[in-house]
Amino acid sequence: MLIGIDDTDSPQGMCTTYLGAVLARRLIWEHMQVREARLVRLNPNVTFKTRGNAAVMLDVKGDPETAFWIACDLVEELADQSCENTNPGLVVTECKPNVAFYQNAVTDFCTLEDAVALLEATGARYRGWKNRRGLIGATAAVASELPDRTSEILVYRQEERFGTPRFVDRQSLFAAEAATFPHTWDTVDTVNDVVVCVPHTPDPVLFGIRGESPQWVRAARQVVRSEPPALEQIWVTNQGTDAHLLDADITDFQEGLSYRVRGTVEDSPKTGTGGHVSFTMGDEGHRVRCMAYEPTKNFRQVIRELRPGDEILACGSFKKGSINLEKINVIGLETGTSVRPPLCTACSKRMTSDGRGKGWKCKKCGARADEPEVQQVPRTLKTGWYEVPPTARRHLARPLCRPEPEA
Ligand code: ATP
Repeated sequence: MLIGIDDTDSPQGMCTTYLGAVLARRLIWEHMQVREARLVRLNPNVTFKTRGNAAVMLDVKGDPETAFWIACDLVEELADQSCENTNPGLVVTECKPNVAFYQNAVTDFCTLEDAVALLEATGARYRGWKNRRGLIGATAAVASELPDRTSEILVYRQEERFGTPRFVDRQSLFAAEAATFPHTWDTVDTVNDVVVCVPHTPDPVLFGIRGESPQWVRAARQVVRSEPPALEQIWVTNQGTDAHLLDADITDFQEGLSYRVRGTVEDSPKTGTGGHVSFTMGDEGHRVRCMAYEPTKNFRQVIRELRPGDEILACGSFKKGSINLEKINVIGLETGTSVRPPLCTACSKRMTSDGRGKGWKCKKCGARADEPEVQQVPRTLKTGWYEVPPTARRHLARPLCRPEPEA
């Protein structure tokens, strides 16, 4: 059977992955076999998410009726239902719903009605609490198929420590990254000297390490020193796979969806208030603003080096008329030229314009020239991919250290 759960946490605590990890252990105590624990991230632009729009799925061998009641009891015990925005959903199904629902949930917006209709058609056991919105994520989780997948080991805190400051040795996190990068990523941000994998919210997660396989995340985890954890779970995930990106033209954009779009830089990037950098990208007469926000730190420096005429592939979400950049591929660089008055060959002085279309004249000796001086401006920017730093990376965004999936 497949068990899907979503929307059990609140900003004050809990985490659906923790509930999933505890459920896996309770099912094992009941002599069931947990074949896979899966963590899927869904559309990152869904507004009612608590943090990272995660949902979980357990692939379990055992009695579905027993599993359903154990899971219901656990949701009642652990979900933070005091929060208005916590609306848990639970699905137990022996038949996997069509993957199209998951694909829609990761790239677009779904309705509760569609989720319930699919669950009915699938013959699933399901239960929703309060407004039942969590059924959307729970259904997407059991419908998911992950042709490209990564791993994350999540290490959870002892209950009595929830809400207290975490102790995870900083140095050991940098050592874990040094020992296993690029097979693991986003444990720390070495350029900005920031720890990335330890949350600051009062949830049960102590830290999480992301990587290409269970072996690599386990290897990195062994290096980390911390307060004693309560439990650890390796999840199969769609994180770091770009599953949220749709290939599109500028004309196709819809609010809250994420795209991979090609175009030409139309104006010089500008830094606005708050340090956000923006420029316009165009294609066949259509235009869109691209934004590199302040939290993307050094990535903005790359964006500032773009010039009109550069050809790029931009990746990011379309929100309020802008593409919020996650990464770009600089495909072609405009060979920059600068035009200025010519030098007088006799006096080596710079000439002055003699009026529009009338050429240039030397003030000293009166010599004339018809052509300006055209100089090649060297470009420091190189073609290729550039990405936001780990501190600003979205869960679903594929880090450049991961090899491109085969076409
Ligand atoms: P949690 O740890 O509880 O999963 P979260 O940050 O992942 O926290 P949720 O609290 O689950 O976010 O809130 C997201 C809500 O949005 C859930 O109810 C989920 O069912 C719903 N949801 C997820 N993806 C979509 C989508 N594509 N369209 C509509 N609703 C969605």
